[in-house]
Amino acid sequence: MDERIENLVKLQGLELQRARIAQQMRGLPNEIEQAEAALAAAQNRSAEISSALSREDSLRTRQEREIKEHRQKAARFRAQLNSVKTPAQAEAIEHEIQFAAAEADRLETDEITSLERSEAQEAALARARAEVESLAVDLETIRASVARRQQELAVQLAELDQGREAVRQLIEPEWLSHFDRLAASRGTAIVRAENQQCTGCRMGVRPQIWNQLREGQLLTCDSCSRLLYWDPAMAPAPKAPRPELIPGAGRAPRKPRHAGA
Ligand SMILES: [Zn+2]
Repeated sequence: MDERIENLVKLQGLELQRARIAQQMRGLPNEIEQAEAALAAAQNRSAEISSALSREDSLRTRQEREIKEHRQKAARFRAQLNSVKTPAQAEAIEHEIQFAAAEADRLETDEITSLERSEAQEAALARARAEVESLAVDLETIRASVARRQQELAVQLAELDQGREAVRQLIEPEWLSHFDRLAASRGTAIVRAENQQCTGCRMGVRPQIWNQLREGQLLTCDSCSRLLYWDPAMAPAPKAPRPELIPGAGRAPRKPRHAGA
């Protein structure tokens, strides 16, 4: 292959590797952000369970105060029973006693339910705290691994930069600027022609161009403007000729065809 083509192809290989590494480097902070977000979410869950627990606590404090009040009220009414004068009065007081006692019982049942909720919350809180701890450890591990990979990638990038500079030295400035313009606008500046097609845009190349490419020339794709070359090392082995089956045509003798345009 022509030396210029070889150098341009090599330059493009290096550019693509640099782009891949740059992309990997850009993706690394995401890993840290994701781990931070997972930790923050677990911390929020833990805080929510914590405040639910203290809400249950204050609920029970209130329930206990109210239970006490109802019991005291019932006791006061019972004391009044000794001094009632009419059966109607006695009945009204009995009713009050029953009501206060029933309220106290109901609140006691509620308090037990609240205690059961708290038990479940305590267990959930323990799990959430364990998760926070484990995610905090994960975050530190990821931070360290990201830092290590960032360093490795920076070393690789520096090596590629060196190689790139060396190859650029070997290419004429006008070809370099042409290459750079194409690479900037198309992503790839130089592509192989294969099966009479540009592998950059998949459009066919004219037979004359194809022949010139096969002679080793560096040309331009009419469709996408990328530089086109042909690599003999990548050419497929010639296929064994296949008998053409043309329905209804019988065994018509095939005319010999000439290669080329
Ligand atoms: Zn093309």
